[in-house]
Amino acid sequence: MQKLFRALDPKSNGSSNKHKKKQQQQQQHHPQEQEPQPNGCNPISVKPLPSCDKGCVCKDCGRLLTDKTVQQQHLSPSVGHQLLSVNSSNTQQQTHQGEGGRESSCSALAMSCSKEERRKWINHAQDQAFAWDFDVFDFGHRTQGNPLISMTIALLELHNLMEGWKVNRQTVENFLLRVEAGYNFNSYHNNVHATDVTQTAAIILGALAKQVDEIPKMDVFCIIMASAVHDLGHLGVNNDFLINSRHPRATTYNDKSVNENYHIARAFELARTNKGCDIFELFTFDEQKKCRQLMIDVVLATDMAIHFELLKNFNSQMEAVPDVNQWEDRNLLYRMIVHLADIANPSRPFGLARPWAERVIQEFCEQGDKEQQAGLSVSPFCNKATMNMPRAQLGFIDIFVKPTLQAFEGAAPEFIRMALQELENTISEWKKLEQAGVKMPAGL
Ligand SMILES: [Zn+2]
Repeated sequence: MQKLFRALDPKSNGSSNKHKKKQQQQQQHHPQEQEPQPNGCNPISVKPLPSCDKGCVCKDCGRLLTDKTVQQQHLSPSVGHQLLSVNSSNTQQQTHQGEGGRESSCSALAMSCSKEERRKWINHAQDQAFAWDFDVFDFGHRTQGNPLISMTIALLELHNLMEGWKVNRQTVENFLLRVEAGYNFNSYHNNVHATDVTQTAAIILGALAKQVDEIPKMDVFCIIMASAVHDLGHLGVNNDFLINSRHPRATTYNDKSVNENYHIARAFELARTNKGCDIFELFTFDEQKKCRQLMIDVVLATDMAIHFELLKNFNSQMEAVPDVNQWEDRNLLYRMIVHLADIANPSRPFGLARPWAERVIQEFCEQGDKEQQAGLSVSPFCNKATMNMPRAQLGFIDIFVKPTLQAFEGAAPEFIRMALQELENTISEWKKLEQAGVKMPAGL
């Protein structure tokens, strides 16, 4: 997401020769060169810190952690979360002798919860599925760190995309368990953010449904799934960082939309290489191809580097054909839905918008620290010393969030009016905080 801030920062001048030289010096011992294990955290952010012996629950995101290594990763400065010990009966329930590693322990964790408990989470998500003031942080706690699978299944059920449709429920659950576990413990790009984006995309779809005659079920399925996986395996650093640090992912994807290419590739890898996880197994060959292409297109469109091009194309299409029903190809509409969902949190009520802003700023600053450690130039808006959170948010809203919301005004007028109203409130709250001299999230 930093790429978008680059446009806002007049000091941004790309890579200097000095920077390149420093970078070459660093590369010999570059810890980032090691691709982390598929479900592990970024190795450079992991530091040995004390952890709980019997299993802990994260105070911030509600995730239950039984594996000691995972706890240490969660406590690392880049995540900065606090763990609370859980009582012994819970601990017993969470303990799992799996293959080791985060994925197996998290999967087993969710599986070890009773069916009734999981049903309760899904019901809660369905009650709140279309609420703009839905507290996703609280939902993270309620679901004991499994908000994404709970919300995604809730939405699939609401759209009649589970029983009686082209998927096997157990396969979808297996896949989503792995997806949830595949999110790293970043301050911002984690499973709670993915839950937020998935719910937001569903709200936008619901708002559009009033104007659009029919959105095919297959398309709804793809949008929900693409939203759920759109930041899978994110390392808490942006594309520029991966490119400048010569991360293996940048090598694999030729410096092009490195994060986004990785997220969607990893999602299909999970589905295709794990037994019982192929959510497309009951689709025809053509349906599989279509669905795969749509999900790839949607996730790649979350790269902020193409924001202006995407928005321009969408606005032109809206101007030429205001009735979305008449659009021959809805691919552009679907890409914009998830892109908007990805950047819409400032238009939530301020009680939600502010913690999101604090988390993203925290992640930016953590990237800045990593850049300093690696001898790289600190990216714009990643420097703790010069950070001004209210100003950064106001710029982001003005340049990116507001115009993207406004682009949907014709297609989903009621929803956009409400979201823009909340956004205006957020703007005035940030202005007040700027005047009060607030520059950083508390505790940073
Ligand atoms: Zn995202």
